[in-house]
Amino acid sequence: MKSITDLEVGGRVVLLRADLNVPLDGTVITDDGRIRASVPTITALAARGARVLVCAHLGRPAGSNFAARAAGGPSLRPVAGRLGELLGRPVPLADDVAGPAAARLAGSLGDGDVGLLENVRFEPAETSKDDATRAELAGRLAALATLYVGDGFGALHRKHASVYDVPGLLPHAAGELVEAEVAVLRKLTENPERPYVVVLGGAKPSDKLAVIASLLDKADRLIIGGGMAYTFLAAQGHEVGRSLLENDQIGNVKDVLARAERRRVEIVLPIDLVGATRFAADAEHDVYPADAFPADRESLDMGPRTRELFAAKLADAKTVFWNGPVGVFEFPAFAAGTRAVAQAISELPGLTVVGGGDSAAAVRQLNFPDSAFGHISTGGGASLEYLEGKTLPGLAALEADR
Ligand code: ADP
Ligand code: MG
Repeated sequence: MKSITDLEVGGRVVLLRADLNVPLDGTVITDDGRIRASVPTITALAARGARVLVCAHLGRPAGSNFAARAAGGPSLRPVAGRLGELLGRPVPLADDVAGPAAARLAGSLGDGDVGLLENVRFEPAETSKDDATRAELAGRLAALATLYVGDGFGALHRKHASVYDVPGLLPHAAGELVEAEVAVLRKLTENPERPYVVVLGGAKPSDKLAVIASLLDKADRLIIGGGMAYTFLAAQGHEVGRSLLENDQIGNVKDVLARAERRRVEIVLPIDLVGATRFAADAEHDVYPADAFPADRESLDMGPRTRELFAAKLADAKTVFWNGPVGVFEFPAFAAGTRAVAQAISELPGLTVVGGGDSAAAVRQLNFPDSAFGHISTGGGASLEYLEGKTLPGLAALEADR
C-alpha cells in the first residue's frame, strides 16, 4: 500500500476521502473526534502544495435523488466550519458532490488550499449495490482530481463509490489515519501479547456474534457486558425480565459458549445487574443478582459486583480490545459499568484499543482523556470487520496497484 509521501502532490488536485461522519445535535457537532483525526493527512498534503479536495459522508440522507437528499440534509456545512477552525483557514464547501459546483471548487483551489465537497451520500449512487451505477458517480468524482488519497478509515468496510471505486480510477495512496488504524489492528490480529482480553458490550449481539466467533481463536478471555449480555444470560436459562433480548440469537449464543469451552477461552458474564422500572434517565433502580432478576424490570447497567469482576478480569491483560459500552451510559445514573471498564483499561500499561462510535463517545463523555488509551479507533464497524478477518473493500482498493 502506498503512503502519501509516495505521491507527487505539489500543484495537483488530490481527492481525499475522509471520515467526517460526526454525531450532530441539529447542526451542532457533539464530538469532533473524527474531524480532528482527519487533520494530520490534510495538513501534510497541503504543506506539500497539494490542492486538497475533501470528500466525505454524513449521516443517512433520505430521498430518491440528489435534489431531495440535498434539501433534507444533513449538510456538511457545520463540518466545513469546524475543519476550517482546526486548520486555521477557511474551508469552502461546494454545494454539490460531483457537479458544476464541485468542478468550480476544484478549479479555484490554489496550491496548499483545502476545499470540501457536499455530503457524498446526497448522491444515491454512492451506496448503490449496482456496479455500473456506482461507476458513473466514481467517474465524475475522479474527473475532479489527478490523485486519490483514502483516509476515511470508518468507511473502509463499505463498497461505496468514493471508497471502493474511485481508487481504481486514479493513482492513489492511504492516508496517515488509515495507516495508523491498520497498524494497530494488525498488532491485535498478528501477535498480541497475552493475556489478550476483549470486552464486548453495546446494544445487539446479532451485530457482534460473528466477531465473537472469530475472537475465540485469538483472545484468551472475553468479557461480555451491556445489552448483549442478557441474551447470553438467557441462553444459560436466567430470567432477564424486560432487558434487551434477541431471542432468535439464543441458539447462536449457545454455540459460542460451547465453542469457547472447547477452546478454553474464558467467557466472563455479569453476576449482578442494575434493574430499572423503565428505560429513562430518572427511572427507579435497584441491584439484583444475575440469576434472580425480576420479570418486571429492565436492566440498564452492570451491578457493583460485576464492575469489580470485570476490573479484576482486566487487571492482568497485556492486550485489550474494547467495543461497546456496558450500560446505557447516555443516562448518568447508568454509566457506572462503562466507567468501571474504562477506568480499569486506562490503568493498563499494555496495548489498549477502544473501537466503536458510541464507545469512543462514552469515554470522552466520561471525561477520560484520549491519552488514557493506547488507541481510540475512529471506526467501529470497520475495526470489527477487520478483526473478524473479513476483507475491507476500501482497504483492498487502496492496496491494489494503480
Ligand atoms: P459502538 O458504537 O461503540 O460499536 P454499539 O452501537 O454497539 O457501540 O452500542 C451502543 C449502545 O448500546 C449505546 O447507545 C448504549 O446505550 C447501548 N447499551 C449499552 N449497554 C446497554 C444495556 N445494558 N442495556 C441497553 N442498552 C445498552
Ligand atoms: Mg454504535
